[in-house]
Amino acid sequence: DHSDVKILLLENVNQSGKDILTAQGYQVECLKTSLPEDQLVEKIRQVCPNEDVHVIGIRSKTKLTAKVLREAKNLLVVGCFCIGTNQVDLDYAAHHGIAVFNSPFANSRSVAELVVGEIISLARQLGDRSNELHAGTWNKVSSKCWEIRGKTLGIIGYGHIGSQLSVLAEAMGMNVIYYDVVNLMALGTANQVPTLNDLLNQADFITLHVPGGDDTANMISTAQFEQMKTGSYLINASRGTVVDIPALIKAMRTGKIAGAAIDVYPNEPVANGPYFNSELNTWAEDLRTLSNIILTPHIGGSTEEAQRAIGVEVGDALVRYINQGITLGSVNLPEVSLRALTLEEPNYARVIYIHHNVPGVLRKVNEILGDHNVEKQLSDSRGDVAYLMADINDVKASEIKDITDSLNSLSSRIMTRVLF
Ligand code: NAD
Repeated sequence: DHSDVKILLLENVNQSGKDILTAQGYQVECLKTSLPEDQLVEKIRQVCPNEDVHVIGIRSKTKLTAKVLREAKNLLVVGCFCIGTNQVDLDYAAHHGIAVFNSPFANSRSVAELVVGEIISLARQLGDRSNELHAGTWNKVSSKCWEIRGKTLGIIGYGHIGSQLSVLAEAMGMNVIYYDVVNLMALGTANQVPTLNDLLNQADFITLHVPGGDDTANMISTAQFEQMKTGSYLINASRGTVVDIPALIKAMRTGKIAGAAIDVYPNEPVANGPYFNSELNTWAEDLRTLSNIILTPHIGGSTEEAQRAIGVEVGDALVRYINQGITLGSVNLPEVSLRALTLEEPNYARVIYIHHNVPGVLRKVNEILGDHNVEKQLSDSRGDVAYLMADINDVKASEIKDITDSLNSLSSRIMTRVLF
């Protein structure tokens, strides 16, 4: 019965997400703000007397620490209605069978569109002209201002954002080349180049769409700027660690780089306000003095549409997990999926067994399920946590409790759910 499912949403989660959950008949309570740890624990218990919440939905501000998660005794799943998941103790959650979902790709289009805007803005020095006129100075120039038609855009990282951008840039008459560690099908008439240097040598505009992390740290530094064409442009809306900013400052001062747009930084302020200074990053004030550089506060994915899409993506993932046990897209559990369960089918049950990944578990589980007709079974592990899903098609309602109790009595058990 769906009305048994109790959901607490914090931080004013987007309406699109709330709608998906309420349409399922779940009990959904929404709060406008985040809550500090002690109040959050109280709230998790208060939502319904005697019964804790099954689902918590948050954005980036609510901290779901081990302490909070420990208090949420019935918690099945956490939905992060945002991109990042650092605010959740993912490891603790996995070891207690709590799935965590987020929305990594709902804002891809917004980022691609921002980059399109920046390509033209840099080519025409829009930021500088606008700043000058804001300051009262009329400065009409055409020297070193360009159309983008016929210019080459070099995309580093041809994933969700990079490939979307590829299509948009071609529509504006640009030639597109891209570099990626994986061989990927080119869209339109784009061409993959074999090395990063090939891209740096040929591109007029270079834009980064790779993940953060050790492999891409300072991927663009002094040696890479040397490979670039004189007068080329650099755009970074990926992660702040990818571009060596002091090296960029040098390359812009020498004129090697004619313009740049930077949306992400090694250290970013936690709140809006006058925080972009040398206390945060030693080079921040040098960066601010350069010409033809567009500096934006990590707004690549910040649109109404992206917020809406996040609500839908996370809402759908939660429904799939609650109703079907499907973990596709989970950031902390193995990804396991079986075809949608038709609960109308008589005598049909889906057994979900989340367990410690130790030898001999499958044999014991199958002893318990052994008298039934297991139609399909899938199992996968992630680190020391494993997720098993089995559909059995000849089970009577009266047998469900036995199956659940038997699985719960195994020492490997983290969590058992039987959907029928
Ligand atoms: P994605 O995972 O879909 O694509 C990343 C691509 O980079 C993949 O094709 C991968 O093979 C490639 N890649 C990985 N390592 C590489 C390397 N060393 N060299 C070349 N290619 C490499 O990611 P996405 O959704 O397109 O996001 C791209 C970046 O944009 C991420 O860093 C993401 O965090 C960032 N992002 C920023 C904003 C913003 O607000 N500015 C919003 C969304 C995403």
